[in-house]
Amino acid sequence: MIAVFLGPPGSGKGTQAARLAARAGVPAISTGDMLRQAAAAGTPLGLRAKAIMDAGELLPDGVIVDLIRDRIAQPDATKGFLLDGFPRTSGQAEAFEKMLADSGMKVDAVINLMVDEGRLVERMANRGRVEGRTDDNPETIRERLRVYREKTAPLVAWFEKSGTLVNVDGLGEIDEVSRRIDDAVARGGERGSARAAAVRA
Ligand code: AMP
Repeated sequence: MIAVFLGPPGSGKGTQAARLAARAGVPAISTGDMLRQAAAAGTPLGLRAKAIMDAGELLPDGVIVDLIRDRIAQPDATKGFLLDGFPRTSGQAEAFEKMLADSGMKVDAVINLMVDEGRLVERMANRGRVEGRTDDNPETIRERLRVYREKTAPLVAWFEKSGTLVNVDGLGEIDEVSRRIDDAVARGGERGSARAAAVRA
């Protein structure tokens, strides 16, 4: 299974991607986690990423696309993978589509986690306190939401056109949201088979 988690920062993508990954037996790949690890290790990429992350901005598409290309080529991703935090721009989405097409793969489901903005700020501020994320402070949170609206939100319509998008209410208990995601993925799978049957007919 290949699935993408879409949704604003603080919508629970990381938590839910990790849970679905455990159930599906595929890795959850988080570009944010990879960049935070690189920053902690003090690699050149990590140092560059840290400044951009702390400002709430995005790394250049080319850097992120290379990171993903290498990661999904790892042996643990041969049966599929879940993406949390990628793609985040139309350039990344197009590069990803091409990457998949070149290797004969396709996205099974794009899970759009919906949470209203007032709740996001509150969630991220709490997360910053618990996890010590330096980009979970009020000023950076506002910038990350602005960047999300400008660069990432348009991908919802983009994936809708490809027929893979499923909207999931991201508010509520973690277990409840996981159940909604399981249902949505099952529905997405049925739609995918219907499409395949239509193509064969
Ligand atoms: P996240 O943990 O997904 O909220 O990502 C934290 C930060 O990492 C973002 O605010 C960006 O600065 C950077 N980042 C993560 N994923 C991407 C991406 N796909 N494209 C550009 N920057 C990214």
